[in-house]
Formats: sequence, C-alpha cells, structure tokens
Amino acid sequence: MDLDTAIERAREGKFEKEDIERLLSPKNKEERSFILKKAKEIKEKHFSNEIFLYGFVYFSTYCKNNCRFCFFRRENKLAPRYRKDKKEIIKIAETLIREGVNLVDLTSGDDPYYNQNFGELLDIVNDISKLGCSVMVSPGVVDKEETNKLLDSGADWYALYQETHSPKLYKKLRINQSFQSRVKARENAAKTGMLVEDGILLGVGESKEDLANSIMTMARKNLAQVRCMLYVRHDGVPLRKKSLSADYPLITALLRITNPRKLVPASLDIDGLKGIEKLIEAGANVITSIVPPNFQLAGVAQHEYGIESGERSTNSVKSFLRKKGLKPASNQSLATYQQKMAENN
Ligand code: SF4
Repeated sequence: MDLDTAIERAREGKFEKEDIERLLSPKNKEERSFILKKAKEIKEKHFSNEIFLYGFVYFSTYCKNNCRFCFFRRENKLAPRYRKDKKEIIKIAETLIREGVNLVDLTSGDDPYYNQNFGELLDIVNDISKLGCSVMVSPGVVDKEETNKLLDSGADWYALYQETHSPKLYKKLRINQSFQSRVKARENAAKTGMLVEDGILLGVGESKEDLANSIMTMARKNLAQVRCMLYVRHDGVPLRKKSLSADYPLITALLRITNPRKLVPASLDIDGLKGIEKLIEAGANVITSIVPPNFQLAGVAQHEYGIESGERSTNSVKSFLRKKGLKPASNQSLATYQQKMAENN
C-alpha cells in the first residue's frame, strides 16, 4: 500500500488495520523519516510550537499490585517506599506551579492507604486545584462514585493506562487485574466530563498486531491524551525486555497521526532531556514527568534518573524549549484545550 494513502487515512480516522500495519513497517529509513515528518507537521498545524508542561508528583510508592513490568510492584523489596503527607504534597505542587507547569500530575501506586482514606486524596486534589493549574489524578481503577468525587474535588484529568489492548498480553503484565474494569473506569470518567488519558508500554512482548490494535483502539476511544512509554527494566522486576525492538519515536508519530487533535506526551522518565527531542520531532506536544529536585521524589520508569541533578526540573525543560525554538504553553491555552475536549465528550 502507498505510504501517503495510509497516512492520510490514519489522519482522517478512516483507517483499517492494514493502514496501521503499513505505517508500523516502514520499508527503509526514508519512509520512517517521512512518517515522523508528517506527524510533526500535523502537530504544528493543530498546536503550533507550543508545548504543555506537566509536573509529576509521585506522592506514594506503595502499591498492592504486582505488575510484572513495574519497579514499584508489591513484591519488589528493592523499591524505596514513601508516602508524602498532604503538607509536603502541596508544597511540591506550589513549587511546580510557581516555576510554570500547566498541570500537576498526582500519581501513586495503588496504595491501600488511599483506598481506605479516599477522602484524604480528595482534600489534596481540592487544595491543588485552587492553586491555579490543571490537576491530573492516577489513583488506579476507581468506581463511578469515586470518579464523581474526584471531579467535584477539582480533578480535570484521569489517567489510567491499559499498557496493552490485547487481553492475552495484559493478563501476563497486570497480574490478577481485570482488563474490563480498567476499560470501564476510563469510560465512566469520560462520561462524567473528566478528560481521560490511556497509554501503552513498548518492549513488553507485544506483537505488531497488538500494537496496531492498541493504536486503533486509542484513536477510536473518547480520550483527550494518548501516550506510549518504553519499558526500562530494573532489579527486582521479573519481566525481561522483549519484543520487537520497539521504535519509540515511530509509535509516538503514529499516535500523533491517528490523534491529530489530542495531546501526545513525551516523558522525561525514560531518557531525560535527550530522549525528549526525538519525541517532539515525532509530534509529541506535552513534556511530562517534570520533577523538582530536593523533595526526594521518585519517577516511575526511571525512578532516580535526572531528578536530583535538576535535569528534570521546570527550568531545565524551559531552557531546552528555548534552544529548540519551542514555547511553553500558557495555562489559558491548556484550559481552552480542556474546555474544547470536554464539550466533545
Ligand atoms: S504499574 Fe502501578 S499498579 Fe502496577 S505495580 Fe506498578 S504502581 Fe502498582
């Protein structure tokens, strides 16, 4: 199949599986570069040279689950465990907002403490939402009532990653967790009016068919942000890195092409600032996992990389953007985007 036709059909949402499989298999370097170039053009058409900045507050590293790919899985004795209190979480959020992030991403493991004390999480969300920036929450699977409470407390975004949309692979990755409950939790959140993010993990044993399936599923769902992340293996984590040598920039480009108007993040969590550039060139328009130093916070995929050195700070990211001729987006710009997406929900 002709590459131009596959890109055009993917961009217009009129794609079939063959189109995505064609884009996943460029025949040579030139074809791959062409796909990346098209993705960047689409990003520039809809978002110009603006990049949204997301601060990351991994406030609890406790988790009741045992996902095979995760450093913070319950059984990993090597993972550092902490649970920040409300005062410190607010202080971190204030620091990030003062430095200029557009959104605070409040993330934790699926921590039994917050399962039992959900009201405390709501209080934290409520206080941060009053500080003048958007709030994303990732509390794991929550029911309809909890979703409504999160929304009422001021959460704008709900992030819940499927990691793969193949039930068979999912079962091997997210041990003893329901595939369908995760799908339902995102659907419920979208119905309440929250903006929803889904994402996939690359390098965990996925086939090309699994990837095509995930890309198509995410493009057709009611999502406002779609991401892919690369699996980084650490001590104490059972999953060996496998697959297909995952082409992270190419998959990012395909997410952009199939989701022209959605946000597509590039995470500092994989390879710091040097990893970001390739993803922005492939059409990403959000930089996530900005973590301020001096708060002893962890990242997820790379729990230490670039945090205390300041590489993942807001100022380092802003200076990187300046050098690349890119512009940090304003809070108003994110608010406008959020309103537009919420109206389409
Ligand atoms: S991916 Fe999330 S739910 Fe799974 S073990 Fe890690 S922190 Fe827990």
